[in-house]
Amino acid sequence: MNNTQSTDLVFELSRPGRRCHRLPACDVPGGDTPLSQLLPAAHLADAPPPLPEVGEIDLIRHFNNLSARNMSIDTNFYPLGSCTMKYNPKRHERLAALPGFAALHPLQHDDTAQGMLELLYEMQQFLAEVSGLPAVSLQPAAGAQGELTALFVAAAYFRDQGQAHRRKVLVPDSAHGTNPASAALAGFEAVTVKSNGKGLVDLDDLKAKIGPDTAVFMITNPNTLGLFETQIGTITEMLHAAGALVYLDGANMNAILGITRPGDFGADMQHYNVHKTFTGPHGGGGPGSGPIAVRDFLAPYLPAPVVVKDGDRYRLNFDLPKSIGRVRSFFGNVGILFRGYCYIRTLGPDGLKEVSEQAVLNANYLRALVADGYDVPHPGPCMHEFVASARSLLRERKVRAMDVAKRLLDYGYHAPTVYFPLVVPEALMMEPTETESKETLDAFADVLLKIKAEDPELLKAAPHTHVISRPDEVKAAKEPVLRWTAAGRPADEPLPAGRKATAASPVGAP
Ligand SMILES: *Cc1c(COP(=O)(O)O)cnc(C)c1O
Repeated sequence: MNNTQSTDLVFELSRPGRRCHRLPACDVPGGDTPLSQLLPAAHLADAPPPLPEVGEIDLIRHFNNLSARNMSIDTNFYPLGSCTMKYNPKRHERLAALPGFAALHPLQHDDTAQGMLELLYEMQQFLAEVSGLPAVSLQPAAGAQGELTALFVAAAYFRDQGQAHRRKVLVPDSAHGTNPASAALAGFEAVTVKSNGKGLVDLDDLKAKIGPDTAVFMITNPNTLGLFETQIGTITEMLHAAGALVYLDGANMNAILGITRPGDFGADMQHYNVHKTFTGPHGGGGPGSGPIAVRDFLAPYLPAPVVVKDGDRYRLNFDLPKSIGRVRSFFGNVGILFRGYCYIRTLGPDGLKEVSEQAVLNANYLRALVADGYDVPHPGPCMHEFVASARSLLRERKVRAMDVAKRLLDYGYHAPTVYFPLVVPEALMMEPTETESKETLDAFADVLLKIKAEDPELLKAAPHTHVISRPDEVKAAKEPVLRWTAAGRPADEPLPAGRKATAASPVGAP
């Protein structure tokens, strides 16, 4: 096992007395008074915290080796469908780190933060323009929180209209799981609408489910199968005729930037995933930014504050009497909004359109290559992503989508999204994005076809090149063991294969 493969925790590398530094004796008069004489005994801990004691080079190696185990868009092709893992320009990191932005305090007076306020104001305008929906809140910190916020806005609007009886939110069966979850969290009842054989909304089922109690229809367009909902005009007309609102899950905006606008095809509200579409670095659960854009009649209910312009000054407007209130502290995830702003300004309107054209081209190219070896149940053309299926592999060789996904890790690829959307059995959902080269897509497709012909036993035990092969994923998510205890690992935590129970790694002298 080489260094990169060591699974020792930094606590297990610890040896008493090891240090990364030695401080000279304190020469401030009185500075060496023991804490026990300065603080009341009741406020003192019984013992110092059990922090690891490690020499500098061991510490550096430990964290460097851990970081080298990470898969990221900077190291590996990452075709994670729906999640839009595209290249994050490094220039934006430098700009976001400029002290004038990075060192701002959120409670600073508006007068001393004009640059940032101008940027946020323009970001509101850009997002309004791209969506065709005029009023924007930058506050939500993720797509899911954007959904929740917009549903709160819709609920406040209906209450104001004396239509609080509208309790139902309709959601297609191909929707992201956050859609029904947000509906429930916002106090609505989520009702599933079926897809038809083409992967689009089943209009008869939709019609049957629209009623006087319908508040909102949440639709993802293009949908999670990577298909543009061609009946969208009819759908929004049906909902509006029933007095309901249409919500667009905007996670898939990468396919339509500058080509069509949700506001133009009938949506009343949408969220963006700035961390997906506009390149905020993400993965591992954050950081995100999920601003929402809504029609003007919904603007009074948006979270306060919003950024406004008075003459040539920018300020935060808290004076929104009908606002649903704050959904996040301060002004949202400003760091990610900043990077999204840089991306939009760098590309401009023509560049944004080109993003989508390239993303769609890349997805269709990859789809055609993958279709040589895998089922692609919904024939093309697709938008920015497509869903293949390992169902014939399962039938013929007992190999599942999960096995293909795990084996890809051995070849240095991040796995596609698997088992989603639910309407495709053994789903392998792939989104290459516009930032990948033809060579990368060719190489990835070659590996996928090669995997298909590999020994099923080899695939079922994959990955073979990682420290941990197949953890119990449900347990890892539901009962994560995140804290080291002095007594060691909890008895029920399985040790990774090949790891000794007692740490015996050689540790260099400080
Ligand atoms: C990612 C995604 C979401 C949720 O966004 P988060 O920022 O992860 O909360 C919702 N819908 C779709 C289609 C997505 O891909």
